[in-house]
Amino acid sequence: MHELSITQSMLDLVLEEAKKVGAERVGRINLVIGEMSGIVDQCVEFYFEFLSKDTIAHGAALSFKKTPTQARCRNCGELFIPKEFDWSCPSCQNSSMEIVSGKELYVESIEVE
Ligand SMILES: [Zn+2]
Repeated sequence: MHELSITQSMLDLVLEEAKKVGAERVGRINLVIGEMSGIVDQCVEFYFEFLSKDTIAHGAALSFKKTPTQARCRNCGELFIPKEFDWSCPSCQNSSMEIVSGKELYVESIEVE
């Protein structure tokens, strides 16, 4: 259950951004979640509702976008989306790779009033 701390830092960031532009209310928050992050949308929504009370972000709509996992081959540098159970490079069949995206949650943009 790491959604609580993730949601808290997401909210902090949103409030900071909203303050910068002098917003009175946050209408929508567009979030990107990596498929491998294990983050559950509903948990984030639940914590958000609870944590954002008494802030200008309360009642804001959360919009989630999923990004697929991307890996980079350590041998040839090929960037690809690994298939389930098949984690080898499509160009050189090497199985040594690093995950370059798909694990994160970040705020893509916010809409304020
Ligand atoms: Zn390769």
